[in-house]
Amino acid sequence: MFDTLSDRLGSVFDRLRGRGALNEADVRAAMREVRVALLEADVALPVARDFVDQVTEKAVGAEVLRSVTPGQMVVKYVHDALVETLGAETAELNLGVTPPAVIMMVGLQGSGKTTTTAKLAKRLTEKDRKKVLMASLDVARPAAQEQLAVLGRQANVDTLPIVPGQQPVDIARRAIQSARLQAYDVVMLDTAGRLHVDDQLMAEMKAVAETSTPAETLLVVDALTGQDAVNVAKGFAGQVDLTGVVLTRLDGDARGGAALSMRAVTGKPIKFAGVGEGIDALEAFHPQRVAGRILGMGDVVSLVERAAETIKVEEAEALAAKMAKGKFDLDDLRAQLQQMQRMGGLGALANMMPGLKGMKGAMDKAADSKALVHMEAMLSSMTAKERAKPEVINAKRKIRIAKGSGTTVQEINKLLKMHMEMANAMKRLKKMGGLGKLAAMFNK
Ligand code: GDP
Repeated sequence: MFDTLSDRLGSVFDRLRGRGALNEADVRAAMREVRVALLEADVALPVARDFVDQVTEKAVGAEVLRSVTPGQMVVKYVHDALVETLGAETAELNLGVTPPAVIMMVGLQGSGKTTTTAKLAKRLTEKDRKKVLMASLDVARPAAQEQLAVLGRQANVDTLPIVPGQQPVDIARRAIQSARLQAYDVVMLDTAGRLHVDDQLMAEMKAVAETSTPAETLLVVDALTGQDAVNVAKGFAGQVDLTGVVLTRLDGDARGGAALSMRAVTGKPIKFAGVGEGIDALEAFHPQRVAGRILGMGDVVSLVERAAETIKVEEAEALAAKMAKGKFDLDDLRAQLQQMQRMGGLGALANMMPGLKGMKGAMDKAADSKALVHMEAMLSSMTAKERAKPEVINAKRKIRIAKGSGTTVQEINKLLKMHMEMANAMKRLKKMGGLGKLAAMFNK
């Protein structure tokens, strides 16, 4: 996600930053390139235009051009405009005052609506300690209700028992009634999807909304569909009172246009992002951090937070402390490998870390399970000293480790290279002022 946009913006900025003085023509030329980069990333035209106008207006000011670091200032304005476009503040879920709060999930078929319903229900249960009941109102697609029930069991969240033949509005009513009787805090209604926005679907949603008065109506859209996602969002926003958007498949190679256009087009904030197929792969959407990620500064805050959720807190703190010192030895790599499955793979991790983006491909390859077993074997065949000080691993030691782990010296070299690249990224991170400074930069 955002890779191409990041690269394009990165090269524009490198040129700007490389120069001592800028004049208005330089800034305007750079902004033209930014505009092209945005359009190529599938950002809706009016959004790209506003964006560039906004930055240009600030950046051609005499104050900027005369400042010591005009290039840096322009980058800052672009960062600010990205944050603004993405929605400025992290939008919290509103659960009203009197439980049960109803969260209605809407979206097209295949957008990830049912999966997202279960992900969010799990998050509310585990993170916010809410008692959640899910109900599928999808009577059009065979097995849709069963799908939610399966996900519910997986997520450890209750689903409303299925009554064959019951219609959406009646199911919604029954769900809310059950929730009242059994003291649930939240009722999640997974409405039916369709292939296109059509009148029948809209009528059904309106009827459900009328009987259930949802505290939140979240539109689920697939980021991979780019401009289409924007059109779908427009269609829904014109018909139902949305309160927010969930963008799915942000783990894929979407060009980012949907994320950047969504707020401007619907007037509603992106509240969550789906980042994988797993039931835990849902994150709160933080505009500040995403803007940082687009500008290639990585997303260390999300990374550490995600680590804290899946790893034990002490481990996450130790990792953060090490990262802050720019240290990362083979024991850390080993710990990372062991956490990999739960953290959504090293590829996902690499994407969030400054300077690691280029390695994503290599790390995704490493993430296949056979490679993992090999890496684990190699690391186990090393002595504690070798893991703590990888530089002592000479040719002779490599042969020993290869023998001990049933691998080859080539594989060991590959592992060491991967580790070195990660360790270097940590050092770069330290140079940038460590975690604290980075976080402060984005949380201003
Ligand atoms: P629905 O028809 O809108 O209810 O879509 P589903 O919830 O059945 O999801 C369709 C497919 O998309 C499933 O295979 C999901 O696992 C997958 N999916 C949903 N969200 C994400 C996401 O954020 N990332 C990825 N990679 N896959 C997702």
